[in-house]
Amino acid sequence: MNILVINSGSSSLKYQFFDMDNNKVLAKGNCERIGIDGVITHKKDGKEDYKKEADLKGHDEAIQLVLDLLMDKEYGVISSLDEIDAVGHRIAHGGEKLRQSSIIGDEELKYLESIQMIAPLHVPPAIKGIVACKKLMDVPQVGVFDTSFYSTMEDYAYIYPLPYDLYEKHQIRRYGFHGTSHRYVASRAAKMLGKDMKDLKIVTCHLGNGSSITAVNQGKAVDTSMGFMPNDGILMGTRCGAVDPSVLMYLINSLGMDPKEVEDIINKKSGLLGVTGVSSDARDVREAAENGDARARLAEKILVHGIKKFIGSYAAEMNGLDVVVFTAGLGENSAILREWVCTDMDFLGIQMDNDKNANSPRGQEIDVSAADSKVKVLVIPTNEEYMIALDTAELAAQDK
Ligand code: ADP
Repeated sequence: MNILVINSGSSSLKYQFFDMDNNKVLAKGNCERIGIDGVITHKKDGKEDYKKEADLKGHDEAIQLVLDLLMDKEYGVISSLDEIDAVGHRIAHGGEKLRQSSIIGDEELKYLESIQMIAPLHVPPAIKGIVACKKLMDVPQVGVFDTSFYSTMEDYAYIYPLPYDLYEKHQIRRYGFHGTSHRYVASRAAKMLGKDMKDLKIVTCHLGNGSSITAVNQGKAVDTSMGFMPNDGILMGTRCGAVDPSVLMYLINSLGMDPKEVEDIINKKSGLLGVTGVSSDARDVREAAENGDARARLAEKILVHGIKKFIGSYAAEMNGLDVVVFTAGLGENSAILREWVCTDMDFLGIQMDNDKNANSPRGQEIDVSAADSKVKVLVIPTNEEYMIALDTAELAAQDK
């Protein structure tokens, strides 16, 4: 079975084409600057990258170009559209109703349109991607939602202590994000340890530009650090994570800021960038700290402090801890961050093999815990696209 996975952003569209029978990515690429001018980068195994400017007025044109390239004589991997069995779409938000990966029919599309308000940056481009694919292909279009892994959370973990009306009338609650990544690495962790997820208490740390931490107890997500929108929990590249909500009211009411300005601050001007004034990229921040920049070092300490707090509180919530997983750009690549997080955590049973951690090869699944550590510390490269392809293949097979 061949599955096309699409991750559609407002001006970009990433894709991967999977041969599921052989567990292989046959081609992948990225359309950028959609609606501005347009450029596509396409990779096929054994071929040099193909990069070309193109007139991408909208998502329709981008999808058409992707399909043309997949069928191209030189850079393609199929000879006709009939060789695509289903399309999987990454959708950041499934709202209250779309709680698991689903085939997107008219009803589901209508529902997604109705929740655009609560995820204005992410849901509209996903809808555009689905509509464009529906026009060009008569195969199942499957939505895989970042939020659906959290459908198992108890109400006391997702209801905010605000007037209950706000939940009932406006669906204001903790949703959680990066669910596909957390689900993937938690399941890989169980495989690595040769155990069933049902027998494990796992904390998964997805640390990238956007970061979130999730508690997975017996295979189910029981809590997560992101909330109503993907901005809660720990410090990120440019997002602040959790701050006292009164700060935002103070900015508006006492400092006279416009709500839009405040939104810009919390999403685009905070986090590593806000604290350091140097960069949102953790590598630049590390370099600045090494060169003696005190605020760069402070930002790193805030991040580590935040991650430790979540690991500790989730261990308390689950009444135990068996595994901590690090994933995404920072989690997979920053050995020093992992070491800082795992230092002085032995009371929880976390002991890292610092040498192994420092010398762990990139891009591989690796156990970096000390031999006698009660809690396993694992580095697992995330693969959201593969998880989307798996769900899509399963639903498409059921649909046949
Ligand atoms: P996104 O959330 O945009 O998908 P990524 O998962 O790619 O982000 O993570 C980006 C973060 O990972 C950046 O802060 C970057 O500095 C960090 N990162 C990437 N590679 C490395 C590396 N080799 N060493 C340390 N940090 C890294």
